[in-house]
Amino acid sequence: MSNDPAYSDLREAVSKLCSKYPGEYWRKLDREMAYPTEFVEELTAAGWLSVLIPEEYGGAGLPLSAAAAVLEEMQSAGCNGGACHAQMYTMGTVLRHGSESQKQKYLPAIASGDLRLQAFGVTEPSSGTDTGALKTTAKLDGDHFVVNGQKIWTSRAEHSDLMILLARTTPLQEGMKKTAGLSVILVDMREALGNGLTIRPIRTMMNHATTEVFFDNLRVPAENLIGEEGKGFRYILTGMNAERILIAAECVGDAKWFIERATDYAKDRHVFGRAIGQNQGIQFPIAKAYANMRASELMVNEALRLYEAGGNPGAEANMAKMLAADASFEAANMCIQTHGGFGFAEEFDIERKFRETRLYQTAPISTNLILSYLSEHVLGLPRSY
Ligand SMILES: Cc1cc2nc3c(=O)[nH]c(=O)nc-3n(C[C@H](O)[C@H](O)[C@H](O)COP(=O)(O)OP(=O)(O)OC[C@H]3O[C@@H](n4cnc5c(N)ncnc54)[C@H](O)[C@@H]3O)c2cc1C
Repeated sequence: MSNDPAYSDLREAVSKLCSKYPGEYWRKLDREMAYPTEFVEELTAAGWLSVLIPEEYGGAGLPLSAAAAVLEEMQSAGCNGGACHAQMYTMGTVLRHGSESQKQKYLPAIASGDLRLQAFGVTEPSSGTDTGALKTTAKLDGDHFVVNGQKIWTSRAEHSDLMILLARTTPLQEGMKKTAGLSVILVDMREALGNGLTIRPIRTMMNHATTEVFFDNLRVPAENLIGEEGKGFRYILTGMNAERILIAAECVGDAKWFIERATDYAKDRHVFGRAIGQNQGIQFPIAKAYANMRASELMVNEALRLYEAGGNPGAEANMAKMLAADASFEAANMCIQTHGGFGFAEEFDIERKFRETRLYQTAPISTNLILSYLSEHVLGLPRSY
């Protein structure tokens, strides 16, 4: 259903790979809450997860729109990029702010699949969206940081070798900005597990391999600090536009999947002696979902255009994420309704995709926070929090 001819070869190749992972593959994993290891390994081997890594470090060196096309294609084929999408944008922190030796050490290994950088430890149970209030500390002790605290919703931690961790390295003092004194540290979880790092899976309404992570005097080499101490919040922020645009592209892919499924079913299913799709009560919600998907796709493309021109499209990236997440959830709801009772049957995959796409109303940023951003930074309204 793509109307965008850009990257047609790339899209075709990703779609071909995805066709090897049909609904029954995802259904089985969903039942067992298991990780799609084969799928992620094949994507990695084909180089699709390293399209953003520059060629000098072993990646394809393509722009963000290529990564968006990969993720959109995966979702529109019915797969779930939530298992691995973070690898695309978390490495951006190392690429933009890491030292040359860190880049040489990690990026080629990530590109080849020898190292997995899937985990991103920012959210904490007590601070939530208020990142500046996080409590995890990393105190310098000789040539190591000693990390103590807890993260929640650290997705894919059990399936990752490395974690980008945001921790407080300078205690908050009076008059200091809450977001100052935070640093980004790369944690090698292979060494850390059982030596101060504990990972506990969280069962959720969809299969997302998310976890809570506990740090108890975990020692991390000081050389794993990314960039300058105390500038971590800014580093994380600079990666957020890319993250939001990529998640938006996934939502567009989801919406396309739902719309295609609903359209096909509405043509095939006959009730009262005619196709249900002949009824406007069935047609219109599909047509509306299509229009909203296309509108959000345009905003994704606009955000990509500005991003690739070297801009800082905070407003467009946020709007793309919100509009695409709304479009995908509207399409999901419409798709269930179009299918009547069968929309709830596991074997149709719709209820699974419905649960999966619901996440993007909340993560990686919830709709309220996007609306607050637009109110304050675009419309000039008073900050509400
Ligand atoms: C499956 C899953 C995977 C995730 N993966 C990761 C990950 O890999 N790494 C990571 O660091 N985090 C991850 N997250 C965390 C995710 O980013 C947060 O859940 C999300 O940002 C919301 O934060 P919170 O859950 O703490 O909600 P809270 O901050 O407690 O907010 C609760 C509700 O209140 C609203 N709210 C809060 N403050 C305001 C305000 N000022 N104005 C209006 N409304 C407000 C929010 O919008 C939300 O609806 C994941 C979450 C989930 C569910």
